[in-house]
Amino acid sequence: MTTAGPRRRHAHRRPRSRTGRIVFAFVAVAAVLAVAALIVPMLLPPGPRPLFQLPVACGETWQLGTYPGHDDYDVDLFPIEGEAWGRPVLAAAAGTVTVAGINGSLGGRTPENPEGPRGRGGGYWVKIDHGGRWETQYLHLLEPPMVREGQQVVQGEQIGRLGSTGNSGAPHLHFEQRRGWEKVETWFDGSPSGITHDDREYTVRRTSNNCG
Ligand SMILES: [Zn+2]
Repeated sequence: MTTAGPRRRHAHRRPRSRTGRIVFAFVAVAAVLAVAALIVPMLLPPGPRPLFQLPVACGETWQLGTYPGHDDYDVDLFPIEGEAWGRPVLAAAAGTVTVAGINGSLGGRTPENPEGPRGRGGGYWVKIDHGGRWETQYLHLLEPPMVREGQQVVQGEQIGRLGSTGNSGAPHLHFEQRRGWEKVETWFDGSPSGITHDDREYTVRRTSNNCG
């Protein structure tokens, strides 16, 4: 075993050029600013709750419900009259579409084959960012969403059609409101739905005031 190793080459880094140092400093500052731009909005307190409306047509009465194992605050909407398949799904409030695509897998449940193979997750779905860290989610749509990511929508704008894609037993709309990273109780037209736990089956009827 040798005790004296070869003399290390490049023991001292060649001094960076002045231009190199300036470029390095500029890139470092830009990186810090970019990270701050991403993180700071997430640390700010959420803004006031938007005046969400039911995500279904003006004047219609729907059943809002949950069941054990659903997840606290999650709401399933079923029309109390008429065909559920294909019913318009509307933006609950104005915002920017952040997701319009497929969650999990679609499965094969269609109006022609309602007992077809069940998919996984949300199927065709949409997420809308309403600002102030408020967000809504719309799951199990029948077809690819009628909106695209980055698109601005107004309250009441149609974003898709009601279906049963993903992990869905029957055609319905699964709907969530989130504040920051948390699901919260859904509110419609200024009043809470009362759906806060999934420890038991619970339903309530509400009439849409999503009237534009
Ligand atoms: Zn659901």
